[in-house]
Amino acid sequence: MDLATIRTYCTYCPKLCRHACPVAEAERTEVATPTFKQQVALLASTGERPLDAGRAEALYKCTDCRATVPACRHRIDVGGSLREARVEAVRQGVAPPAAGRVAERFAATGSPYALDLRARVAAAVPGGLSTVGAVGVLPSCTTAAHRPEALDRVVGALRRAGVDAHAALPDPPCCGDPLDALGHEDAFRLHAARVAASLGGFEAVAVEGGACAHALLARYRAVGVRVPFKVLPLVDLLAQRLPPAGEKTRARHAYHDPCNLGRKLGRYEQPRAVVRALTGADPVELAPARDGGLCAGGGGGYPVTNPDGARGCAARVLEAFRASGAEVLVSGCPSAARLIAKADPTVRVTDLTGLVAGQGQADGVPAGA
Ligand code: SF4
Repeated sequence: MDLATIRTYCTYCPKLCRHACPVAEAERTEVATPTFKQQVALLASTGERPLDAGRAEALYKCTDCRATVPACRHRIDVGGSLREARVEAVRQGVAPPAAGRVAERFAATGSPYALDLRARVAAAVPGGLSTVGAVGVLPSCTTAAHRPEALDRVVGALRRAGVDAHAALPDPPCCGDPLDALGHEDAFRLHAARVAASLGGFEAVAVEGGACAHALLARYRAVGVRVPFKVLPLVDLLAQRLPPAGEKTRARHAYHDPCNLGRKLGRYEQPRAVVRALTGADPVELAPARDGGLCAGGGGGYPVTNPDGARGCAARVLEAFRASGAEVLVSGCPSAARLIAKADPTVRVTDLTGLVAGQGQADGVPAGA
């Protein structure tokens, strides 16, 4: 279906997927419902209600989580439609100021952080960063900024498992997903081309972040950028290669399905296999899980444009975790884990990289990693 058709379906829909939209649930306003957002996009595209700053705000009330897709009989991807509408908002100069600041940050540092991520990671990896090899391991920006030493531990775990793995970080040091998510399509295309060329010495790149993996697997091609190496989510390698745990950890671990790794990339079994390998037990399941997994609010640039709403999404994941009875929450997404940990710093939250990096500790997990 083309964009005009899906936006028209949504505009005349009696909000059948509203309950599944984490942003509509967190914000509890009509403006945040898929129906309203799609109506803004439709009327802007036909010229009946051109975008202005106020209408453009509605387009940014979306985490691009695809949580509404299973609830829609037409399987409409609202996030994809809104991303296209954001491109127009940026071109017309009416996107939220926060979205513009992200583009300025990328122009200055090549990432959404004010830090020199390449210097930070290079200093934390004793063997240094590689540009060639069989498998480059690409960390998410979150890992590069907040715990760059974990990359070395993941590479070490893969090498012990027989993988010719190398620490990798392109120049610029981020996949560019935030640019894409916020509607900076032209900047994203240029950025993606530089990243793809910078990683071109690897036969394969194992990508830690789900959003980053989705960007390299799908979004680069969508904007016309060729990727000259094999791309695979890091979790695939970890699931295949990590040896089983010698004994069970004391704490019970629950697993959170993040949107990109789950609904977009279909990785449901692999992360559970990693948790099993590192803890000696199947993870406790949250309700809902798998393709109904709760969005933690981190995608689509939503924490930048709507930080309160993002906290509301993370709170819903915490609620499900508390109801699960587990002691540790493992998210498949580094930035989701950080958002959840920030929403309640007393809760023990980590991600798959934190779990691998914590191997050998008393309970296998650094709290709040
Ligand atoms: S995505 Fe489907 S269920 Fe949701 S508003 Fe659009 S048509 Fe309705």
